[in-house]
Amino acid sequence: MHKREDLRNLAIIAHVDHGKTTLADAMLWQSGIFRANEQVAERVLDSLDLEREKGITIMAKNTAITYRGVKINIVDTPGHADFGGEVERTLNMVDGVMLLVDATEGPLPQTRFVLGKALAKGLPPIVVINKIDRPDRRLDQVLEEIYDLFIDLDATEEQLDFPVLYTNAKAGIALTDPNGQGQDLAPLFETILSAIPAPVYDPAAPLQFLVTNLEYSDYVGIIAVGKVVSGALRPGQDAVLIKRGETVGKARLSQVYTYEGLQRLSADVVQAGDIASVAGVPDVFIGDTIGDPEDPRPLPVITVEEPTIAMV
Ligand code: GDP
Repeated sequence: MHKREDLRNLAIIAHVDHGKTTLADAMLWQSGIFRANEQVAERVLDSLDLEREKGITIMAKNTAITYRGVKINIVDTPGHADFGGEVERTLNMVDGVMLLVDATEGPLPQTRFVLGKALAKGLPPIVVINKIDRPDRRLDQVLEEIYDLFIDLDATEEQLDFPVLYTNAKAGIALTDPNGQGQDLAPLFETILSAIPAPVYDPAAPLQFLVTNLEYSDYVGIIAVGKVVSGALRPGQDAVLIKRGETVGKARLSQVYTYEGLQRLSADVVQAGDIASVAGVPDVFIGDTIGDPEDPRPLPVITVEEPTIAMV
């Protein structure tokens, strides 16, 4: 197996209003993704401002930033228990999670389901306590509440040993010591690189693309979003569509995309380990595998189960 040291795949778990969008924004800015293309920056910010004016906070489903040459894919998780298996699918794409918690409110019950699933999958967590500039912050108690929650959710010893970052997302500052001084989010980026494992893959294996979401574009039609579990995706490539373990049809991939910032960009190739999307597979659905016609290998079907933890 090979390791993609140039890549990290991370899911954010956060209660609404705890600062996920603000933090993701600050991470985008500080990773310098926009410096190379200011026009893109303006466009993205315009749309963000517009959404904010309408009172809707948006966080792209997939955001990618680059820090010290490492691409960090950040995937949003639904902030609630769902019945469609979306939590499962999202967690299947990542190698670790970031739990973002408001420094005053502490962890709230709605994030419990997603965190429990992530811990049960053995994913390593990073804890980020945000809004540390609030005068009514309760840092020690909130951290205690987070430990209690992890213990309650049967976290392993290793998972309980989670790194903790303290952030003021509005100011774009992350600290390892809440009483220390900082200027930027570098400590957070460094923690992501060290605490979230690089994805591993078999370089000799044929294409396996796990479809976790669908998007639609007027230009190319249905776009399958997911993870390149093995092999590589290239536009023009012949592939097969596998549903519930059975090959059901052939397709030629028309477009292949990766994520950069909040944008979906056309790519010539996307290698195993990365999060990507692909057009040209008309009947594709969530949970399907897009595979190699010479050696179609279905990925395990994602079971859609009902949450066992009631919403409080
Ligand atoms: P989301 O729903 O988790 O995406 O939360 P947002 O990023 O939209 O933030 C919710 C609110 O908290 C907004 O009014 C933000 O300006 C505010 N906020 C986010 N981060 C901080 C922070 O570090 N300090 C303070 N004081 N406010 C913050």
